[in-house]
Amino acid sequence: MLALEDLKVHFEVGRKSKERTVLKAVDGVTLKLEKGEAFGLVGESGSGKSTIGKAALHLVPITDGRLVIDQEDLTRIDPRAEKKLRRKAQMVFQDPHSALNPRMTILRSVAEPLVLHTGMRGAELRNRVAELLEIVGLSSQFLYRYPHELSGGQKQRVCIARAIALNPDLLILDEPTSALDVSVQAQILEFLKKLQADFGLTYLFISHNLAVVRYLCRRVAVMYLGVIVEEGETEAVFNNPRHPYTKALLKAVPYPQAVQPDRGPPLAGDIPSPINLPSGCRFHTRCPERIDGVCDVETPPTVRDVSGLVRCHLFAGETLPGS
Ligand code: SF4
Repeated sequence: MLALEDLKVHFEVGRKSKERTVLKAVDGVTLKLEKGEAFGLVGESGSGKSTIGKAALHLVPITDGRLVIDQEDLTRIDPRAEKKLRRKAQMVFQDPHSALNPRMTILRSVAEPLVLHTGMRGAELRNRVAELLEIVGLSSQFLYRYPHELSGGQKQRVCIARAIALNPDLLILDEPTSALDVSVQAQILEFLKKLQADFGLTYLFISHNLAVVRYLCRRVAVMYLGVIVEEGETEAVFNNPRHPYTKALLKAVPYPQAVQPDRGPPLAGDIPSPINLPSGCRFHTRCPERIDGVCDVETPPTVRDVSGLVRCHLFAGETLPGS
């Protein structure tokens, strides 16, 4: 369905005389999503996961690699072909409050992609928007309201209605619940799960919330500083994390009880700048299991098995369980 092959997204962030400063937001990512699956992409802020979502929709320029959707190479396309891409794939953003134009009624907001891409007008357009609102659990009473009259959860439902207006196969959901209240988050997640089942949608679900990804996604990839460090079936990765970064992320998930079990020290320090990447393994500056003289010098190998991969020197030369 969606295939990213050795995708690179580099930005030039400053130019002084002949020096070029390059920010390597995504640096050689390969991902394959099957039709109808929910695939999670997790990592800290600054890991590059949102950039992948934007690159898949040409919202940021692709530096190198390939973007393939439904076996069609869409890596380099002209503005007319962009329209075709919009019909295949859409994005739901993190903050529904800023995703909707405050001056436009809900009818106009949801109708916009239909007008641009299908030329639909009049009663047909209004009926289609009402139908979309019904799919996302809102009545036609919302048609003539403005965003400030809606709650956060209702606004996110409107954004989802707009995203599915053109019947896309792929939805890229970039932290779609993180700006919402906890009780509303649960409703939206439940709704997203039902929507996927009803319409056979493919999800690329980008989040730093591991519990949410576990609930929604069959497979997951863990990103750190522009590269995938672990990938596999969600339950396998959560029950038996292999990469030290995945272990650290899982350690940080709070237990639903008053007294938290002692799970050792949390991950130290901040994620380094993608402008000045660490040598060797990108995680070596924070890794509790690093091998001095190896991890800080040599790029770790990518070890694959039938269900995924891990990129770490600790697994060099190993055949992973299940391979
Ligand atoms: Fe840690 Fe070394 Fe593995 Fe990197 S390669 S995650 S530094 S053990």
